[in-house]
Amino acid sequence: MKYYSLNRKAPQVGFKEALIRGLAPDRGLYFPAEIPRLPADFIEDLTDLSDQEMAFRAIQQYVGDAIPEERLRSIIDETLCFEFPVRSLSDRISVLELFHGPTLAFKDVGARFMARCLGYFNENDAESTKITVLVATSGDTGGAVASGFFGVEGVDVVILYPSGKVSAIQEKQLTTFGGNIKAIEVDGTFDDCQRMVKKAFLDPDLSRSIKLTSANSINIARWMPQMFYYFSAYRKLKKPGKELVFSVPSGNFGNICAGMLAQKMGLPIDHFITGTNENRIVPEFLETGEYRPKPSVATISNAMDVGDPSNFVRIQEIYEGDVEKLRKNLSGYSYTDAQTLEIIGKIYDEKGYILDPHGAIGYMALQEYLNHHREKEGVFLETAHPVKFLDVLPEPIAGQVVLPDSIKTIMPKEKQSSSLDTYSELVDYLLS
Ligand SMILES: *Cc1c(COP(=O)(O)O)cnc(C)c1O
Repeated sequence: MKYYSLNRKAPQVGFKEALIRGLAPDRGLYFPAEIPRLPADFIEDLTDLSDQEMAFRAIQQYVGDAIPEERLRSIIDETLCFEFPVRSLSDRISVLELFHGPTLAFKDVGARFMARCLGYFNENDAESTKITVLVATSGDTGGAVASGFFGVEGVDVVILYPSGKVSAIQEKQLTTFGGNIKAIEVDGTFDDCQRMVKKAFLDPDLSRSIKLTSANSINIARWMPQMFYYFSAYRKLKKPGKELVFSVPSGNFGNICAGMLAQKMGLPIDHFITGTNENRIVPEFLETGEYRPKPSVATISNAMDVGDPSNFVRIQEIYEGDVEKLRKNLSGYSYTDAQTLEIIGKIYDEKGYILDPHGAIGYMALQEYLNHHREKEGVFLETAHPVKFLDVLPEPIAGQVVLPDSIKTIMPKEKQSSSLDTYSELVDYLLS
């Protein structure tokens, strides 16, 4: 499989190079040259396949011969080492829980997959130089990348996060690994971190001295494996004659865009819904047809505080820049923090189920869509465990969240981090 740059001013490359580069030399995101249709019997027989087999068949088309079959299978086995349960909350609403991985958010799958692919490429590269993965995080990416890449040979990970603006548990998850994982606190916002990271990728002096790549969802190996969630949920929920709608709480729109890829491959998905917090760039685009990025505003669903979603260009590519076509397949709704807290309280009282603020937005968006489409059924993606957001949950509910074992073991660990404020300090750090 070849990948082209969405800026269309760079040569096509294979899976390995697209993964290692992260961004194309013309700063465009990579996109597969072809979206293969899965055979009809694959979809019909989904129920008979294991998660691992299903994921292998879907992703193998995009990896091609860059990784031998046996190795790709073992990478998938190690990536999917936890459960993806679907629960029913009412007769028309189900929840797909994506938070049972090591860092309790859905980014574990993409981060684990990418780390293992990079590990394979490093082993087989005779003149391999150390690769530095540089990421900015508003909370969840950092932990998933730290956990996914911990101990991978030949890879150093540098994570920038805004000091005091990630939750206590998120901070523990990204600062307590040590080894090849370095956490850096920046006195500023997530946007400041992101700006420094982008500048580093563009810096010719830096790229002469070190090999830098990203592990945000701009990277194909972080983004594409997420299509697995949709196959997995479809298989568990499909009923003859019923169409399934997916509601995805979104920030950078990587997760939902992976679902759109699955749909293009032939997975029968009826419709997508995106829920956002007050960073409502995409719902606004669906309303007005105009894309207007803005500085992000801070909300309690902090992993979705994105003012210029990086995967929007991939969505545009899938729908050939045709907003009408997109509107037929995607609806968007946005919610305030007050609405988010209110629904968390309501669902807890009515069903005894504890939503996290991101999943709560997915729930509200699905409910709103289903109110207008009475014949349909849907599933929303619960993207994080509520324990990651204890500090913002209403007090009586926070007290009811059961701490998973992985949290009990990291809370007493000592935080290890450096701090810096300027880009030149970051350059010095990377070169040292
Ligand atoms: C990253 C994240 C999101 C947003 O996912 P995108 O792929 O960036 O749209 C939603 N919820 C949680 C908990 C996250 O960590």
